[in-house]
Amino acid sequence: MKSLTVLGSTGSIGSSTLEIVAAHPDRFRIEALTAGCNLDLFARQIEQFKPKLAVVLDGNLAKSLADRLTMDNPPEIMHGVSGLIAAATLTETQMVVAAIVGAAGLVPTAAAIKAGKDVALANKEVLVTAGHLFMELVEQHGVRLYPVDSEHSAVFQSMEGHRNSDISRIILTASGGPFLNSPIESLATVTVANALNHPNWSMGRKITIDSATMMNKGLEVIEARWLFDLPPERIAVNIHPQSIIHSMVEYVDGCVMAQLGTPDMKAPIAYALSYPERIATGVKPLDLTDICGLTFFKPDMNRFPALSLAYRALAEGESMPAVMNAANEVAVEAFLDGCIGYTEIPRLIERVMDSHDATKLSSLSDVMELDIWSRKTARELIKR
Ligand code: NAD
Ligand code: MG
Repeated sequence: MKSLTVLGSTGSIGSSTLEIVAAHPDRFRIEALTAGCNLDLFARQIEQFKPKLAVVLDGNLAKSLADRLTMDNPPEIMHGVSGLIAAATLTETQMVVAAIVGAAGLVPTAAAIKAGKDVALANKEVLVTAGHLFMELVEQHGVRLYPVDSEHSAVFQSMEGHRNSDISRIILTASGGPFLNSPIESLATVTVANALNHPNWSMGRKITIDSATMMNKGLEVIEARWLFDLPPERIAVNIHPQSIIHSMVEYVDGCVMAQLGTPDMKAPIAYALSYPERIATGVKPLDLTDICGLTFFKPDMNRFPALSLAYRALAEGESMPAVMNAANEVAVEAFLDGCIGYTEIPRLIERVMDSHDATKLSSLSDVMELDIWSRKTARELIKR
């Protein structure tokens, strides 16, 4: 029996994680759940999975949650960052599923690692903002980091049984999102609804916009750089609109290993939870004869400037990816709120990056300070 804390249980990854847990009550039990402000869903999850600890964003939400729960032995309810840390470090928990979105996941994920917990990592922004610090923590505390992101899970699976030293490069696949074939001139006027309409994957709002701009793939290149310890020139991106091959690893002898499947996050989540075993997920089996061809091509950086910003951030290194990430979070939120247009997202990120010179990051508090600076700079630029 593996005991779990799920950080961000009401999100897309969090809910899929709980579906897997519900299907395997003999394998997993939930010790703690955390959520932002979706109390309806959170209360239902708590009644179903009976965690010892439940955490919400603030004190008012904690009180409303307590009023709402009708169960016999309700969990302890905490709020804020201290609550997230308590959930991530709970003695009974063996593995923490990091499924908060954005840099907000940094502190609890670091706390989990320091407390010796294995981590199933969906929250890619953690490695984007502070990759080298996190990989050092993982090493220092002897824990394992299992990728949940489908591309990184595919790479991880394609590396099993091979020597890392034999890898020549990895190839991350990208669907290209909803605007892959739209005329570039039309992008300035796309609506939030158009951008949220992803062709292949059902995900949270922020990552869905990141997938449309391909910043998501940029974040994943940076995530891969840290997870697999490869330089950027050995991490390629191929557009593959069918999202059947989830990523590939090319070896020095020219052989390529790929992982395929129906696009459904339950598969990589289950692999992270049950590694090295494989368990049933309910994911629709793949019938390649149903698919009219698999296609691949190189991304057009004029259409997807956010992807080249991510390669630039990685090349400049040190603090630049954290600055880029925070600017992106603000830009995406502003786009979703109708404050800026779609094509202004990469422009805003670039302007914030242009106002920063990469500096060394020695601690998580350096990362947090820079995150605040970058958000403030981005918000001021939006106001102007
Ligand atoms: P989501 O928006 O659906 O869910 C995010 C969860 O985090 C929710 O439970 C929310 O309440 C909580 N949360 C948000 N802000 C918070 C804060 N400040 N403090 C505490 N909790 C907070 O997001 P998602 O799509 O599930 O994505 C989660 C992470 O997984 C992201 O980093 C994303 O990039 C990554 N990821 C998602 C998918 C996917 O298919 N959804 C695939 C690969 C990677
Ligand atoms: Mg992904």
